[in-house]
Amino acid sequence: MGRDEMSDLQGKRLHKLVELVYHNVPFYREKMQALDLSPEDIRSIEDIRKLPFTTKQDLRDNYPVGLQAAAQSEIVRIHASSGTTGNPTVVGYTRRDLEIWSESAARAFTAYGVTRDDVFSVGYGYGLFTGGLGAHYGVEYVGATVIPTSTGNTEKHLRLLRDLKVTGIACTPSYALYLAEAMEKRGMTADDISLRIGAFGAEPWTEKMRQEIESRLGLKAYNLYGLSEIIGPGVSYECECKNGSHISEDHFYPEIVDPETLEPLPYGTQGELVFTTLTKTGMPLIRYRTRDLCSLMDGKCGCGRTNVRMTRIIGRCDDMLIIRGINVFPSQVESVILEMPEFEPVYLMVVDRAGCLDTLQVQVEVRRDFISDELGEMLRLRKKLADRLKSVLSISADVKLMEPGSISRSEGKSVRVIDRRSLD
Ligand code: ADP
Ligand code: ZN
Repeated sequence: MGRDEMSDLQGKRLHKLVELVYHNVPFYREKMQALDLSPEDIRSIEDIRKLPFTTKQDLRDNYPVGLQAAAQSEIVRIHASSGTTGNPTVVGYTRRDLEIWSESAARAFTAYGVTRDDVFSVGYGYGLFTGGLGAHYGVEYVGATVIPTSTGNTEKHLRLLRDLKVTGIACTPSYALYLAEAMEKRGMTADDISLRIGAFGAEPWTEKMRQEIESRLGLKAYNLYGLSEIIGPGVSYECECKNGSHISEDHFYPEIVDPETLEPLPYGTQGELVFTTLTKTGMPLIRYRTRDLCSLMDGKCGCGRTNVRMTRIIGRCDDMLIIRGINVFPSQVESVILEMPEFEPVYLMVVDRAGCLDTLQVQVEVRRDFISDELGEMLRLRKKLADRLKSVLSISADVKLMEPGSISRSEGKSVRVIDRRSLD
C-alpha cells in the first residue's frame, strides 16, 4: 500500500476509533472533553496529535475493566500481564480482536517464510501471558502445524523437536540458547533436528545472540515484538531482510515521542514508542505509551513490504526489568519487603545470566530483633520471603539475608537494581 493510501486508511480508522471510545469509555470521553475535543475534530491521522496519551497507570487506575469499550457479553477472551504493585493489567478481546491478532501474528510467520508444510513448536508460556496463545493462533492461521509445547519441559521439548521433525520454534531468545545448551549436553547437534525458522521475542536481544542461536540451532532467527496492552505478539516482525521489524500499522499506529516533553519525534530519532490501536474493539487504546525505546525507520525495505519498520528495542524509559521473559518491577519487590516486619526497608536486586538463563537474587537486611542464632529459624525466614516473592513476581528469586546496615545506602537516588546481563 502506498503511503497516501495507508494514511487515508489510518485516518478513517482513527475517526471511527475516537467515536467508539468517546461514546463507550468514560475515561476517554472525560479526557477529550477536558481538551475541548469531539470525535468530529479527529478526521485525519495527523489529528492524532490532538489526542491525549494513555499510560499503564491509567490502566491500573481503571482496574480491572474500566477502559473496556465493548459490553462484557462481547468479550470472548481475557489476558493479563504483571502489574507493578497489586493490580495486573487486564485486557479483554472481542471475537474481532482475536481475528486481528491471529492475522497480525500470521503476517509475522508469513514474513519468516513459514508455510503449511512447517511444524511449529510454541515454547512461550500459555496462560494469562499473551506469548503462547498469540503465537499459537498465528501459526494455525498460516495453516502450519502447531505444537503447544509451552515452557518448562526442556527434556520433552527436545524429544518433540527431534521425533516430530519440528521445523519452527517460537520462544524467548534466552530460552532458545538454553535449549541449544541442553541439546549439546545430551550430545545432540543441529544436525539431529530439523529446525529452520525461529520466532523470538518477549524480551530484548541482540545481533550477537541472533548469530549464536542461528549457528547452534541451525535455523534463521527473526524478531517478534508485541505487548499485551496493544494485542500481544505480532505488533511488529522482521522480514527476510532482518533489518528492522515491520509494524502492522493498519491496526497499530506507531509514533515516537520524547519521553520527557511528549513531543512527536521524526523518523530515525530515538524515543518512546507509542501505539494507537486503530481497529480493536475490546479494549482499544489511544496513544498508549509503551515505555519501550526505539526509532522508526525511513525508506523502503528490500522485501517490498511498505509498512513502516521499527529498530530493535534498545531499552526502557521506566524501571521495568524483563527476567526470563517475565516483566518485573522493583516496586513489586519493595512492596513485599515493606509488608514484612522482619526486614529493613532496604533491598538490592541483582540480575545476572548463568549460562543462558537469567537469575535474580534479592538481598535484604534482617531487622535486629529477628536475627536468630538458630539456623532453622533463618532458613524459615528466607523461605517465607522467597515464597512471597514467587507469588508476586511469578519467577523465583534467590533470597540472600543480610546484616542490618550492610546494603550500601547511597546519597541521592539509591541503587536498587544491578543488572549484570550484558546485551552485546
Ligand atoms: P509479551 O507477551 O510480548 O512479553 P508483555 O505485555 O508481557 O507482552 O510485555 C511486553 C514488553 O515486552 C514490551 O513492552 C517490551 O518491553 C518487551 N518485548 C516484547 N517483545 C520484545 C522484543 N521482540 N524485543 C524487545 N522487547 C520485547
Ligand atoms: Zn522487509
